[in-house]
Amino acid sequence: PPHLSREELKALVRTVPDFPHPGIQFRDITTLIGHHQGMAASVHHLAELADAAGAHKIAGMEARGFIFGAAVAVKLGIGFVPVRKPGKLPIATIGIDYALEYGTDRLEMDPGAIEPGQKVVMVDDLIATGGTALASAELLRRAGAVIEQALFVIDLPDLGGAARLRDAGMDVHALMEFD
Ligand code: AMP
Repeated sequence: PPHLSREELKALVRTVPDFPHPGIQFRDITTLIGHHQGMAASVHHLAELADAAGAHKIAGMEARGFIFGAAVAVKLGIGFVPVRKPGKLPIATIGIDYALEYGTDRLEMDPGAIEPGQKVVMVDDLIATGGTALASAELLRRAGAVIEQALFVIDLPDLGGAARLRDAGMDVHALMEFD
């Protein structure tokens, strides 16, 4: 396994104050994925967790969930399901609208991407309020997935998303936390 401690991994994430809005500390994974061992260690740890959960497929949320999720799927030798922003897929999709702090957003996917009953592990770069992950879980379930686990590189525990997912019965892991 790649030898980077959790603390060394965390140090590879760049924090950018006041992006995209004043008061937000943006946790930027660009610097983590640009570091060969940082990327390899992140994918290694996520893949171990998904493997232990018995994943049949990995689902990643657009866009940064694609980076980690696709690498985990390749490492485990299983398929990857993209959960997409609206209007991107060239087929008839299924979709879900979900609430944001201001307004709503929408996620879409290929309704045929999952065989009924397949265990799908969700991967994203970061969990904040958990709104994206909860909407993704519901959408994937409508497509036939069994969702028991959600994996993140970064958790912002103060925003309560991981707790919301656990309250909904999910197994949640993150490689690091920021206040
Ligand atoms: P949420 O739905 O509130 O859990 O937000 C999760 C999504 O928003 C993830 O896909 C993140 O990529 C992005 N996000 C939210 N807050 C931050 C932050 N402080 N830094 C970087 N990305 C964030």
